[in-house]
Amino acid sequence: MRSSIKNKTVLITGASAGIGYETAHAFADEAEGQLKLILTARRVEKLAELKAELVKKYKEIKVYTAGLDVSKPPLVKEFVQSIPTEFAEVDVLVNNAGLALGRDPVGEIDVSDIETMLDTNILGLFTLTQEILPGMKKRNRGDIVNIGSIAGRNPYPGGAIYCSTKAAVKFFSRSLRKELTDTKIRVIEVAPGAVKTEFSLVRFKGDQAKADDVYKDKEPLVAQDIADFIIYACTRRENAVIAEAVIFPTYQA
Ligand code: NDP
Repeated sequence: MRSSIKNKTVLITGASAGIGYETAHAFADEAEGQLKLILTARRVEKLAELKAELVKKYKEIKVYTAGLDVSKPPLVKEFVQSIPTEFAEVDVLVNNAGLALGRDPVGEIDVSDIETMLDTNILGLFTLTQEILPGMKKRNRGDIVNIGSIAGRNPYPGGAIYCSTKAAVKFFSRSLRKELTDTKIRVIEVAPGAVKTEFSLVRFKGDQAKADDVYKDKEPLVAQDIADFIIYACTRRENAVIAEAVIFPTYQA
């Protein structure tokens, strides 16, 4: 028995590209347009394009887009307060916004890069969850999908900060899950391996050659692989939690 996405409200961070973008499409397809989507990221023009695509595909879909930098807690709070009433009862929160910056040994990591990774991947995810959780508790239902990483399980040289942030996502998810055992709220952590998105281009600050080198002679996942799993997890029977999923291309085993 599956539970349905139809008529639900789904909030996705980092919806302007990659996994977040594909996840928005995947939810819309699963619900055949019968749902409400809240799409956020910093690049509002990309969100507008995504909204136009979705509205073209499904006349009845309701999409609210908002510029949001998750790394700034006051902005996260402001954003949640400003969600229109029609979209306010969030059923599914996909905490997807995140990034890695650089691949340097610990002594050489730029301090501002450290702050950006901590503030986006940890603080942003924690703060938005804190803001959305009371509503879910009140309604005693909801799915919180946190995008972690294989890096939070298998750290690598040059990834000390990024890997730590993703380990934090894993343990935040585990702790929260234990706090919610007397509710019907599910916490699902998805830990992707290499997925070909803008991720590496962002990591190497626009250096296309370095970004391409990450996938040279390799076949990484595509964002759709992760989006498909998110839909699968959110459509299980309501009492069935897929707590953690590590999804990687075969070469990363
Ligand atoms: P992309 O770079 O393609 O997308 C990242 C998204 O996050 C963009 O929509 C970006 O939007 C958004 N984002 C980044 N910083 C912020 C911020 N401060 N506030 C709001 N939104 C922000 O990468 P992916 O789709 O690959 O990454 C999605 C998630 O998956 C991340 O958490 C990443 O760590 C994780 N992941 C990715 C892997 C990969 O190999 N690709 C592997 C494992 C995990 P904008 O710039 O418009 O704000």
